[in-house]
Amino acid sequence: MAKDPVCKMNVSETGARFKSEYLGVTYYFCSEGCKKSFDSNPVKYVK
Ligand SMILES: [Zn+2]
Repeated sequence: MAKDPVCKMNVSETGARFKSEYLGVTYYFCSEGCKKSFDSNPVKYVK
């Protein structure tokens, strides 16, 4: 399982519909809304 960096929900990488790559790392999201939040300001969610 991967963790949605926006809402901290666990997301399965298998067949994940919402993902983004940032600085060479792939992040998975539970929804398009979380992906959009991440894409608009990834620095806020990446430690
Ligand atoms: Zn989410």
